[in-house]
Amino acid sequence: MSLVNVLVVDDDPSTRGIVSCYLQILDMDVKEAEDGLDALEKISQEIPDVILLDLDMPKMDGFTLCQKLQENPRLKATYIIILSATSDIEQKVKAFEIGAHDYLVKPFHPAELKARVQVGARTVNALKNTVIDDLTQAYTRNFFLSYYQHEQIRCYREKIPFCVVFIDIDHFKNVNDTYGHKMGDKALCHFSQEILKGIRRSDIFARWGGDEFILFLPSTKKEGAEILCRRLQQRVRNLKVGPKEVSITASFGITDKLSEGIDLIQVADDSLYKAKERGRDCIYTRAPLK
Ligand code: GH3
Ligand code: MG
Repeated sequence: MSLVNVLVVDDDPSTRGIVSCYLQILDMDVKEAEDGLDALEKISQEIPDVILLDLDMPKMDGFTLCQKLQENPRLKATYIIILSATSDIEQKVKAFEIGAHDYLVKPFHPAELKARVQVGARTVNALKNTVIDDLTQAYTRNFFLSYYQHEQIRCYREKIPFCVVFIDIDHFKNVNDTYGHKMGDKALCHFSQEILKGIRRSDIFARWGGDEFILFLPSTKKEGAEILCRRLQQRVRNLKVGPKEVSITASFGITDKLSEGIDLIQVADDSLYKAKERGRDCIYTRAPLK
């Protein structure tokens, strides 16, 4: 298992210190934050695997922070353990409802703390490998396919519109060749973050492979998908990656829901091919049906 990053968020310095000490013995990389605002700052620098979160804190309490964490797509694989002095059932239920994965009442036994953090680390590790692409933090192709198989059946049955979009970075090989593979990785990562910021939480964005990505847009007709893609296209154009401010563009191939049984992933891929053919930095929606 790779090194586990833990963030301990608690306004009480002695609790932070004790918790950090226990976890450092387990060879975990532990950072501390004194309240919710400080935690957001630390998270913007490094995504933790596990967050140990106190509820009652000044400036920004644990509930508010937990809610904010749910809105951040980069924290999809982060495991949140509430560490609180209150054992009130309503508080516990509320914490789980807003996204916590576990709840430990203070004072806790160090062995229990370690065991629960290790469960968190194992869960995150498994999730990261199967669901989240490590470099881009987008979903993996496997996750996308299993989700898509399931969701499209529901959409056909309940007559819900949806769209599938392929997105591919233009001339990405040139970025690697000109600025090096490391800068290429950075560009992929920034590109993905930009797309994740621009879509709804209900949309599913995955790395198909290399510089090619796929989007599933539930409850979206093709006009809506086109508006979204124009916004995403602009976001990508505005990106400046690294000190050399490398810029990139991307091409988008859209299809909406067609008759059941048609392979929409193939139709979206064909649309992407057309967008590339038309000069790149381009959006192409599948041709109208005859
Ligand atoms: P096009 O506009 O036709 O898409 O041109 P392209 O150069 O982007 O297309 P192509 O698919 O031929 O090349 C994709 C390149 O993406 C190949 C490889 O150099 C790069 N690439 C794929 N995966 C990674 C990765 O994980 N990191 C980096 N840095 N580059 C990658
Ligand atoms: Mg490409």
